[in-house]
Amino acid sequence: MIKSVVSKEYQELQKQIVALQEKWKLQLDPESIRPNLDQAAMEAGVPAAALTAINFDISLFLQWIDEVNTTLINKNPELEPKLSNIHSLLNEETAIRWIEEAFSLNHVFFIHFAQEHGIEEWIPQFLAETALRPYLQLIAEKVQSEIHRAIPGAGCPVCGEPVRVAVLEEEGKKVMHCPRCLYHWHAKRLECGHCGNENHETIQFISIEGDATSQIQVCDECSGYIKIIDTRQYITKPSAALLDLKSIHLDFVAQEHGYNAVGEKKETN
Ligand SMILES: [Zn+2]
Ligand SMILES: [Zn+2]
Repeated sequence: MIKSVVSKEYQELQKQIVALQEKWKLQLDPESIRPNLDQAAMEAGVPAAALTAINFDISLFLQWIDEVNTTLINKNPELEPKLSNIHSLLNEETAIRWIEEAFSLNHVFFIHFAQEHGIEEWIPQFLAETALRPYLQLIAEKVQSEIHRAIPGAGCPVCGEPVRVAVLEEEGKKVMHCPRCLYHWHAKRLECGHCGNENHETIQFISIEGDATSQIQVCDECSGYIKIIDTRQYITKPSAALLDLKSIHLDFVAQEHGYNAVGEKKETN
């Protein structure tokens, strides 16, 4: 959505949405998800969610879209005319398409959809992604004990989202957390999650003034960064989605230093 404007209101809205997603996930029948973790495909970096048969409950999906709309309108009544016709655009076929395109992060599809129906560009993908996440989170829960590592460059092993947040646990163990599907996995302390670089000379850590629990790990091989948050002193551990949101100041610092949320392979001449 309006990612550059991280106002208190935006954080509040995100918290409400995270709470909705937690509630929605409980409405899903765990049997509606059947992962088929093909080892060769996983080794090639195919995310587990792409190897999972999902029996989508379309009426539930539509109901969730309505709930997000209501939440958005409660926060910002000006959105009402922009959101009021969404429901009428979504028949079963469109809803399935939304789910598929949200899963593959097909930005172009949603931009076209918005243009075609005269709605603001951010709306369709935001709604679809919001209502897709409970499925991704349920898949992550199901396969949590079956996948033990990530393929560098392939993003989250469950949903394919680029790696973003790591948490330091007991003894300084580094655990990557996916803010999208909430899957988590162990990673080497000195390893770039984007390109797999383990060279201590080209991996550096940027600390943040006045924030002793956060660091940014940057990689000069791929110019990627991840945020590392030491939650050992935290009394309650926030979910990865909230950690990501609360640490958005780290994204600004990393990007000011010329690093990117997604690593890039360097051209070799
Ligand atoms: Zn994920
Ligand atoms: Zn790297």
